[in-house]
Amino acid sequence: MIAGPCSAETREQVLETAKALAELNVQLFRAGVWKPRTRPGSFEGNGVEALGWMAEARQQYDIPVTVEVAEPAHIEQALKHGIDVLWIGARTTVNPFQVQRLADALRGVDAAVMVKNPVNTDVDLWQGAIERFEQAGAKEVAAIHRGFSGYSQAPGYRNQPNWPIPIELKRRRPELALICDPSHITGNRSRVGEMAQKAMDMHFDGLMIEVHPRPDEAWSDAAQQVTPQQLKNILENLVVREEYTQDMSGLMQLEYLRQLMDSLDAEIIDLLARRMELSEQVGEVKKACNLTAFQPGRWREIVETRGERAQEHFLSKEFIVELYEKIHHESIRRQLSVLEETRKEIKK
Ligand code: PEP
Ligand code: MN
Repeated sequence: MIAGPCSAETREQVLETAKALAELNVQLFRAGVWKPRTRPGSFEGNGVEALGWMAEARQQYDIPVTVEVAEPAHIEQALKHGIDVLWIGARTTVNPFQVQRLADALRGVDAAVMVKNPVNTDVDLWQGAIERFEQAGAKEVAAIHRGFSGYSQAPGYRNQPNWPIPIELKRRRPELALICDPSHITGNRSRVGEMAQKAMDMHFDGLMIEVHPRPDEAWSDAAQQVTPQQLKNILENLVVREEYTQDMSGLMQLEYLRQLMDSLDAEIIDLLARRMELSEQVGEVKKACNLTAFQPGRWREIVETRGERAQEHFLSKEFIVELYEKIHHESIRRQLSVLEETRKEIKK
C-alpha cells in the first residue's frame, strides 16, 4: 500500500500526512516534489527543499518514501536525500530517450523503481521502459497502472483504465509487481474506493492512492485526493481475493464451467473459420462483378442486426460491435487478397 499527497506542499503538510499514514500501516509514503503539469503556470513542486521534508518524514515515522523523478539531476538529489524508491511518471515513460537517461543515471545503484504506464495505450513502450531500468541493474522494478489519456474520456474517468493493457503486461511479465493508481484513473475521490476494489479483483499486487489532510485545499489534483480517514475506510472495505483456493467443491465447479467454456471456444473458432471461408467466396463473386471489397451499406447492416441480436441476449451493443469490427476487418482482408489475385492475373 502506497499513499501520500499528490504534491509535497509544506513541511507541515508532509509530516502531518506521513504521521497519519504511518498509523494506518501504509508501506510506502509518496509525494511529488517535481510536478509535471499539463499547463504552465500551475504549482510545479517545491523541489530539493521538499526532499528534505520527505527525508524528515522517513526518519520521524519510520516509513520508506518515494518521489517522482524525471531528470538525471532529480535522481542525484533524491539519492542524496536517502529516498527509498523512485517512480517514473506517465509523461516521462512515453519518451525512450529520457527513460534511458534516467536508467543510465541509476547504473551501479541498487535502486527500486516504479514505472507508471505511458499516457498512450502502448504496452511495448511500458515494457520497454521497465526493461531499460532492469538492464541498468535496478534491484527491484514494479509497474503502476494509472490509466490512459485521450481526446475524449468515457464518463467517470480522468484517465481511462483500459485493463487489457496491464493484463497483457502481466501476461508477458508474470513476476512483475503490478500496482494500481485509482486516484489518477478516476480523478474523483468518491470513486477511488470502487476502482481500488476493481484492481484487487483484477489480481493487482498493490495500490497507490493520493491522500491529503485537507484535499479541497490541495495545490494539485484536489478533486481526487482523499483524507487519511477516507483511506482508512477504503482499506477496511477492500475485499482482497485469491488466485487459488483449496475449496474442493469450488474447484470442481470451476473445472466443470471451464470445460464448458473450452468447448464453446472451440466451436466459436470453428465457426469463425467457416465464416472466413464464406468471405473468400464472397470475394470471388465481388471479383467477377467488379465490386469493392468494403461496402459501407453492408457494414451498416451488420452493425445494426448484430447489435440488435446481442441486445436480445443482454450483451452490450458496444461489445458486439467492437468484436464485429475485428471480424469484418479480417473478412475484408481476405476479400482484398482475392481481388489482389485479379490484378496479378491482369499483369501476367
Ligand atoms: C502523480 O502521481 O502525482 C503523477 C503526476 O502521476 P502521473 O505520472 O500518473 O500523471
Ligand atoms: Mn497527482
